[in-house]
Amino acid sequence: MTDNFTREINYARISLTDKCNFRCLYCMPECGIEKKQHSDIVSLDNIFDIIKALSELGIKKVRFTGGEPLVRNGAVDLMKKVRDEIPAIKDICITTNGVLLPQYAKELSEIGINGLNISIDSFDPEKYSFITRGGKLDDALKGFKCAKDAGIENIKINAVLLKGINDGSIREFADFGLNNNTEVRFIELMPFSFGNSYDKYGITSKEVIENNSLIKTERDTFTNNTEYYQFSDGAEVGFIRPISNKFCSKCNRIRITADGKMLLCLHRTDEVDLKGSFGKFDELKGLLCEGIKNKPEGHDLCGGNLQTRAMNRIGG
Ligand code: SAM
Ligand code: SF4
Repeated sequence: MTDNFTREINYARISLTDKCNFRCLYCMPECGIEKKQHSDIVSLDNIFDIIKALSELGIKKVRFTGGEPLVRNGAVDLMKKVRDEIPAIKDICITTNGVLLPQYAKELSEIGINGLNISIDSFDPEKYSFITRGGKLDDALKGFKCAKDAGIENIKINAVLLKGINDGSIREFADFGLNNNTEVRFIELMPFSFGNSYDKYGITSKEVIENNSLIKTERDTFTNNTEYYQFSDGAEVGFIRPISNKFCSKCNRIRITADGKMLLCLHRTDEVDLKGSFGKFDELKGLLCEGIKNKPEGHDLCGGNLQTRAMNRIGG
């Protein structure tokens, strides 16, 4: 279906939990998260109903995210149920920090998931541990290898650009991509109101592209909000540029949070509370439909209007 700005909305990012086994410095406050009551978190059955209703409204792709989606018990069973019972969802994808993939990669491959984004912000173990506040690079690399060995298709590496931490390592990322036949994409760091060190670590893709003398790849690849650039020998990396090349006019997505809200824009606080409609499928579908229509035109990060939820409570 289309929203009031004639954008076709066909993609939903579903947060399975706001919990995480990491505490990335740009994503959640150092003290961690406020503990939620079990009853505040949407059950997997209700998440299934939300996805079913969304599929009837024209959503064709879902991405499971979080927090860390794979820490939620039953996450993989839910993905299998969506695959088996909602054929209108053509693409089932996951964004993960990767460390639980040794446990789940085989099952995910059997389900036939269509895409796996693994977040790795540095190939230097110390920097990786600093960014994730204690994570081990080796665990993420093991996860990547297990996913490859299990035959999962369309694996990408995502890295948030962090000034002074990884902006000098673009070539290293490109080489990792080349050596592993994997796409690597950089995401511009986005500010959040909890104070995620944006002033200290924020850097635009533009600066990084210039500093590395990258050349724009000549093909239309904007479908995943990604622009591709190359080194002179052809090694390619992608950039997702919510700050320096705002792509709201092409936005095709909505988000469902782990506490049962539909969030219409990553950086807007407008939410639709779905909880009262659980168990009443037509009412749920009606709320989702109304929400999609009223998706706001775009974010206003440059005007200083920041999201009050931290990223782990949204489903990035
Ligand atoms: N835990 C999983 C992971 O890390 O991939 C999934 C959830 S995480 C919130 C999803 C994506 O959001 C990750 O790639 C992460 O790097 C990115 N992210 C989190 N906070 C961000 C921020 N402030 N700016 C840009 N990207 C951010
Ligand atoms: Fe966890 Fe992902 Fe946020 Fe890092 S970016 S704290 S791994 S949810």
